[in-house]
Amino acid sequence: MATIFINQDNFYHNLNQIALKTGSIDKIAMVLKDNAYGHGLVLMGRLASNFGIKHAVVKNHAEAEQIKTLFQTVLVLGDRAVRDEICTYAVNTLGDIERAEEGAKVELKVDTGMHRNGIAMQEVECALERIGERQLDLVGVMTHFRSADAMGSELFWQQKQFVSAKEKVRKAGFENVRFHSHNSAAILRAGTFTEDLVRVGIAAYGYNELPEPFEAVPLKPVMKLTAKRVAARRLKKGERVGYGGDFTASKEMTVSTYDLGYGDGWCRGDSKNPYITAEGLPVLGRVSMDFIVLESEKEEVVIMENAQKAAKQFGTISYEITTALSKDIERIVV
Ligand SMILES: *Cc1c(COP(=O)(O)O)cnc(C)c1O
Repeated sequence: MATIFINQDNFYHNLNQIALKTGSIDKIAMVLKDNAYGHGLVLMGRLASNFGIKHAVVKNHAEAEQIKTLFQTVLVLGDRAVRDEICTYAVNTLGDIERAEEGAKVELKVDTGMHRNGIAMQEVECALERIGERQLDLVGVMTHFRSADAMGSELFWQQKQFVSAKEKVRKAGFENVRFHSHNSAAILRAGTFTEDLVRVGIAAYGYNELPEPFEAVPLKPVMKLTAKRVAARRLKKGERVGYGGDFTASKEMTVSTYDLGYGDGWCRGDSKNPYITAEGLPVLGRVSMDFIVLESEKEEVVIMENAQKAAKQFGTISYEITTALSKDIERIVV
């Protein structure tokens, strides 16, 4: 079976690097949405909690239910706000406030310029008023940056907007509100950090997606993906492999089939420009739903050790490569 190995030491190394930036592990909210970016929700939640992380971020109720006993707070990004001891809910629209259950803990998301989710700056006063009237418990105010990974002034412009949002919250008389805006890119480039929390995802999983000119914080990939041999055969020169026979043996060679394919969430890619595994083996011919073919006789091969390198080959980003991997692949902590 294809297997995902989770390297605990590397994960803790990354969390330590992030804590150096935030000044405290108490300020790290571990983003565990989408099955912990494909690493395994409960498993990564346990590891984070054992390390001492107190806060988590997930997509919906279903994810929160699986990990909420491990944390002091769990921020749910995209579900209806209900009354809960641990869960807090991002409020993205004025409608979210009207739909929320009375007494629910909410975190107001302010749109400071990304224009994806969140309450517009000019609606913030109105949102705060309705939160008060509806007797919701405002525990946080947050925003998300669109260009934290880019040089230039865009990040600073959004940060300025957020400062003015914070002012509005204070003016409205709310207290004990936590403010947070940083994702991985923002905290990795930050010189000083004064907010209450960072929402860190990709950096904790070991990838720094910032381009060259930024300080290179050393991170280590947490995930390794392997596959097992299903069958081996000897090919004569000229014999062709897989659907469409896209690969032709240029010599006599031994090839094996391994149990990973696009059905497992592995990228099918383009057989004319084949993926090269972590061990330097090009995938021969097309990727099938459950199989790939390599020139190898090994029992087990390492397909990927660094999702960022794999992503480059496929023309995408590390997030997509890891998140796509099927929940059904076994995950083992090493
Ligand atoms: C996914 C997400 C994050 C984490 O982003 P990374 O780039 O992986 O650190 C932070 N905040 C919000 C609102 C998100 O949706």
